[in-house]
Amino acid sequence: MAIARREARGEDLVWQLDPDLCTKCGRCETDCVLDISAVKAVNFFPLCAMCDVCTGYFRAEGYQMNSGAENQLCPTGAVRRKFIAAIGHEPFFEYTIDEDLCIGCGKCVIGCETMNGSLYLQVRHDRCLNCNECAIAINCPADAFRRVPRSNPTLRKKETQASLQVEEELIRIEATEQRDATG
Ligand code: SF4
Ligand code: SF4
Ligand code: SF4
Repeated sequence: MAIARREARGEDLVWQLDPDLCTKCGRCETDCVLDISAVKAVNFFPLCAMCDVCTGYFRAEGYQMNSGAENQLCPTGAVRRKFIAAIGHEPFFEYTIDEDLCIGCGKCVIGCETMNGSLYLQVRHDRCLNCNECAIAINCPADAFRRVPRSNPTLRKKETQASLQVEEELIRIEATEQRDATG
Protein backbone atom coordinates (compact mmCIF):
# COMPACT_ATOMS: atom_id res chain seq x y z
CA MET A 1 0.00 0.00 0.00
CA ALA A 2 2.78 2.40 1.00
CA ILE A 3 4.70 1.48 -2.16
CA ALA A 4 1.60 2.05 -4.28
CA ARG A 5 1.31 5.55 -2.76
CA ARG A 6 4.97 6.25 -3.60
CA GLU A 7 4.39 5.11 -7.20
CA ALA A 8 1.43 7.43 -7.34
CA ARG A 9 3.70 10.29 -6.26
CA GLY A 10 6.14 9.35 -9.02
CA GLU A 11 8.96 8.28 -6.67
CA ASP A 12 11.75 6.41 -8.49
CA LEU A 13 11.46 2.71 -7.55
CA VAL A 14 13.83 -0.20 -8.16
CA TRP A 15 13.63 -3.96 -7.65
CA GLN A 16 15.05 -5.54 -4.52
CA LEU A 17 14.76 -8.94 -2.85
CA ASP A 18 13.90 -9.43 0.78
CA PRO A 19 16.62 -11.69 2.28
CA ASP A 20 14.28 -12.81 5.06
CA LEU A 21 11.98 -14.32 2.42
CA CYS A 22 14.63 -15.66 0.01
CA THR A 23 15.03 -19.46 0.03
CA LYS A 24 18.21 -19.43 -2.14
CA CYS A 25 16.42 -21.48 -4.81
CA GLY A 26 18.98 -20.62 -7.51
CA ARG A 27 16.68 -18.65 -9.83
CA CYS A 28 18.46 -15.40 -9.06
CA GLU A 29 21.40 -16.88 -10.95
CA THR A 30 19.45 -18.27 -13.90
CA ASP A 31 16.42 -16.03 -14.45
CA CYS A 32 17.85 -12.51 -14.74
CA VAL A 33 17.67 -11.11 -18.30
CA LEU A 34 21.35 -10.18 -18.07
CA ASP A 35 23.95 -12.78 -19.12
CA ILE A 36 25.39 -12.54 -15.61
CA SER A 37 22.75 -11.84 -12.98
CA ALA A 38 22.39 -8.41 -11.38
CA VAL A 39 21.89 -10.26 -8.08
CA LYS A 40 25.06 -10.61 -6.01
CA ALA A 41 26.03 -11.92 -2.61
CA VAL A 42 26.83 -9.24 -0.04
CA ASN A 43 28.49 -9.59 3.35
CA PHE A 44 27.01 -7.56 6.20
CA PHE A 45 30.25 -7.08 8.14
CA PRO A 46 28.81 -6.19 11.59
CA LEU A 47 27.24 -9.65 11.66
CA CYS A 48 30.21 -11.59 10.25
CA ALA A 49 32.21 -13.57 12.84
CA MET A 50 35.29 -13.49 10.55
CA CYS A 51 35.62 -17.24 11.09
CA ASP A 52 38.77 -19.16 10.22
CA VAL A 53 36.56 -22.11 9.21
CA CYS A 54 34.07 -20.04 7.19
CA THR A 55 31.12 -22.16 6.08
CA GLY A 56 30.35 -19.64 3.32
CA TYR A 57 33.88 -19.99 1.96
CA PHE A 58 34.92 -23.62 2.35
CA ARG A 59 33.11 -26.64 0.97
CA ALA A 60 31.05 -28.53 3.55
CA GLU A 61 33.46 -31.47 3.64
CA GLY A 62 36.63 -32.89 2.15
CA TYR A 63 38.52 -29.59 1.95
CA GLN A 64 41.91 -28.40 3.14
CA MET A 65 42.42 -25.12 4.98
CA ASN A 66 43.84 -23.15 2.09
CA SER A 67 42.43 -20.97 -0.67
CA GLY A 68 42.80 -23.54 -3.46
CA ALA A 69 39.81 -23.47 -5.83
CA GLU A 70 39.11 -27.13 -5.01
CA ASN A 71 38.46 -26.16 -1.37
CA GLN A 72 36.07 -23.28 -2.09
CA LEU A 73 32.30 -23.47 -2.00
CA CYS A 74 31.88 -20.63 -4.51
CA PRO A 75 31.88 -22.01 -8.09
CA THR A 76 33.53 -18.86 -9.47
CA GLY A 77 35.99 -18.01 -6.68
CA ALA A 78 34.11 -14.77 -5.98
CA VAL A 79 34.46 -14.93 -2.18
CA ARG A 80 37.77 -13.33 -1.16
CA ARG A 81 39.42 -14.37 2.11
CA LYS A 82 41.96 -12.05 3.75
CA PHE A 83 43.76 -12.57 7.04
CA ILE A 84 43.12 -9.62 9.36
CA ALA A 85 44.57 -10.46 12.79
CA ALA A 86 45.10 -13.14 15.41
CA ILE A 87 43.79 -12.82 18.93
CA GLY A 88 45.70 -15.34 21.00
CA HIS A 89 45.81 -18.43 18.79
CA GLU A 90 42.57 -17.51 17.00
CA PRO A 91 42.97 -16.08 13.47
CA PHE A 92 40.30 -13.77 12.00
CA PHE A 93 39.57 -13.28 8.30
CA GLU A 94 37.67 -10.73 6.25
CA TYR A 95 35.39 -12.11 3.54
CA THR A 96 34.43 -9.86 0.63
CA ILE A 97 32.61 -10.55 -2.63
CA ASP A 98 34.18 -9.86 -6.01
CA GLU A 99 30.98 -8.77 -7.74
CA ASP A 100 32.48 -9.11 -11.21
CA LEU A 101 32.80 -12.85 -10.54
CA CYS A 102 29.64 -13.43 -8.49
CA ILE A 103 26.77 -15.06 -10.43
CA GLY A 104 24.21 -14.82 -7.62
CA CYS A 105 23.90 -18.57 -7.11
CA GLY A 106 23.45 -18.24 -3.33
CA LYS A 107 25.68 -21.20 -2.40
CA CYS A 108 27.77 -19.07 -0.03
CA VAL A 109 24.56 -17.72 1.53
CA ILE A 110 23.36 -21.25 2.28
CA GLY A 111 26.79 -22.10 3.74
CA CYS A 112 26.90 -19.01 5.95
CA GLU A 113 23.46 -19.79 7.38
CA THR A 114 24.99 -22.47 9.61
CA MET A 115 27.07 -19.70 11.27
CA ASN A 116 26.08 -16.04 11.57
CA GLY A 117 24.18 -15.59 8.32
CA SER A 118 26.00 -12.39 7.38
CA LEU A 119 26.02 -13.30 3.67
CA TYR A 120 22.86 -12.72 1.67
CA LEU A 121 21.68 -11.83 -1.83
CA GLN A 122 20.82 -8.37 -3.10
CA VAL A 123 20.04 -6.80 -6.48
CA ARG A 124 22.94 -4.47 -7.35
CA HIS A 125 21.61 -1.35 -8.98
CA ASP A 126 24.80 -0.43 -10.78
CA ARG A 127 24.06 -3.55 -12.90
CA CYS A 128 20.29 -4.05 -12.80
CA LEU A 129 18.34 -2.73 -15.84
CA ASN A 130 15.31 -2.09 -13.59
CA CYS A 131 13.08 -3.99 -16.00
CA ASN A 132 9.43 -3.07 -15.93
CA GLU A 133 8.69 -6.69 -15.00
CA CYS A 134 11.73 -8.27 -13.33
CA ALA A 135 12.15 -11.76 -14.80
CA ILE A 136 13.39 -13.09 -11.46
CA ALA A 137 10.52 -11.53 -9.53
CA ILE A 138 8.02 -13.25 -11.83
CA ASN A 139 9.55 -16.67 -11.12
CA CYS A 140 10.67 -16.24 -7.50
CA PRO A 141 8.94 -19.05 -5.54
CA ALA A 142 9.25 -17.10 -2.29
CA ASP A 143 7.72 -13.88 -3.64
CA ALA A 144 10.80 -12.17 -2.22
CA PHE A 145 11.04 -9.38 -4.81
CA ARG A 146 9.40 -6.00 -4.45
CA ARG A 147 9.90 -2.41 -5.51
CA VAL A 148 11.76 -0.11 -3.12
CA PRO A 149 12.78 3.56 -3.39
CA ARG A 150 15.99 4.08 -5.40
CA SER A 151 17.11 6.45 -2.65
CA ASN A 152 17.03 3.57 -0.12
CA PRO A 153 17.46 0.41 -2.23
CA THR A 154 18.80 -2.11 0.33
CA LEU A 155 16.65 -4.66 2.14
CA ARG A 156 18.51 -6.06 5.16
CA LYS A 157 17.67 -9.14 7.19
CA LYS A 158 15.83 -8.31 10.39
CA GLU A 159 18.76 -9.49 12.52
CA THR A 160 21.17 -7.22 10.62
CA GLN A 161 18.84 -4.28 11.18
CA ALA A 162 18.86 -5.07 14.90
CA SER A 163 22.66 -5.27 15.00
CA LEU A 164 22.90 -1.94 13.13
CA GLN A 165 20.63 -0.34 15.72
CA VAL A 166 22.87 -1.67 18.52
CA GLU A 167 25.95 -0.33 16.74
CA GLU A 168 24.35 3.09 16.21
CA GLU A 169 23.35 3.17 19.88
CA LEU A 170 26.92 2.32 20.97
CA ILE A 171 28.29 5.11 18.71
CA ARG A 172 25.74 7.53 20.19
CA ILE A 173 26.68 6.56 23.78
CA GLU A 174 30.40 6.88 22.97
CA ALA A 175 29.87 10.31 21.41
CA THR A 176 27.85 11.45 24.44
CA GLU A 177 30.54 10.21 26.83
CA GLN A 178 33.28 11.98 24.85
CA ARG A 179 31.25 15.20 24.78
CA ASP A 180 30.61 14.99 28.55
CA ALA A 181 34.33 14.29 29.21
CA THR A 182 35.48 17.31 27.17
CA GLY A 183 32.60 19.59 28.00
S1 SF4 B 1 14.39 -16.32 -6.93
FE1 SF4 B 1 13.61 -15.68 -4.93
S2 SF4 B 1 13.93 -17.41 -3.53
FE2 SF4 B 1 15.15 -17.79 -5.39
S3 SF4 B 1 17.21 -17.02 -4.88
FE3 SF4 B 1 16.12 -15.32 -5.88
S4 SF4 B 1 15.09 -14.13 -4.22
FE4 SF4 B 1 15.77 -16.13 -3.38
S1 SF4 C 1 28.79 -18.70 -4.01
FE1 SF4 C 1 27.45 -17.87 -5.64
S2 SF4 C 1 26.41 -16.11 -4.64
FE2 SF4 C 1 28.19 -16.64 -3.35
S3 SF4 C 1 29.85 -15.29 -4.10
FE3 SF4 C 1 30.01 -17.25 -5.21
S4 SF4 C 1 28.84 -16.90 -7.13
FE4 SF4 C 1 28.23 -15.29 -5.65
S1 SF4 D 1 15.04 -6.12 -13.08
FE1 SF4 D 1 15.90 -7.12 -14.92
S2 SF4 D 1 18.12 -6.82 -14.78
FE2 SF4 D 1 17.27 -6.39 -12.75
S3 SF4 D 1 17.42 -8.29 -11.57
FE3 SF4 D 1 15.38 -8.28 -12.55
S4 SF4 D 1 15.63 -9.33 -14.53
FE4 SF4 D 1 17.70 -8.80 -13.76
